[in-house]
Amino acid sequence: MTDRRPAATLSPLEKHVRRLHACRRCDLMHKPVVSGGPVQSKVLLIGQAPGDKEPVLGRPFAWTAGKTLFRWFAEATGISEEQFRARVYMAAVCRCFPGKKETGGDRVPTREEISNCSAWLEAEFSLLKPTLVIPVGKLAIGQFLAEPRLDRVIGRQFQARGFGRRFDLIPLPHPSGASPWHRMEPGRSLLNEALGRVAVHPAYAALTSPGSRATTPPDRRRAAPSA
Ligand code: SF4
Repeated sequence: MTDRRPAATLSPLEKHVRRLHACRRCDLMHKPVVSGGPVQSKVLLIGQAPGDKEPVLGRPFAWTAGKTLFRWFAEATGISEEQFRARVYMAAVCRCFPGKKETGGDRVPTREEISNCSAWLEAEFSLLKPTLVIPVGKLAIGQFLAEPRLDRVIGRQFQARGFGRRFDLIPLPHPSGASPWHRMEPGRSLLNEALGRVAVHPAYAALTSPGSRATTPPDRRRAAPSA
């Protein structure tokens, strides 16, 4: 449903999301823009780019990969999909569906598109000041780590810098059914290690503590391992 409240009544994060929805910077990207909404959170999840179902359903990770992703979080951290969406800010490297390749599968966003969309991410780092960032999939991981090889980064926690801030980074593999990596060893064990780190991270644990509640109101990046 379209939010018709006057701009003057919106919070800075709500204004940001409204401007994001109106973005038309990339000619080849399909509309509408997909956003997880103005969730005030210290935990920032960054996906790659929406598929063809997300623009129709109006939220990120709305189809089969999302089912897997939310099952991971439910099993490892005891938080339902609804709770996760209400408590974690869900961003992406690109917020629009890039379209299909002629050979099948989704088109990979261009460098220019990634650069265009990083301005939105930069604003979100400034507004939210996240202390835990969870990049999902190689494209998202590669925005922060020079070596996005999954078996070298999944299961580890990094102290990262990016967008003018320092934060903890716990990468996850993409939950797409097209990749068997997370279903086979060592991927399965490394994924469990990563989810275990997310569960005990203070920023995430604060979201899942009994007193927590939903907080939704009306080439510059390198990292070093910390554990
Ligand atoms: S991909 Fe990002 S920058 Fe490009 S049109 Fe969509 S929201 Fe705007």
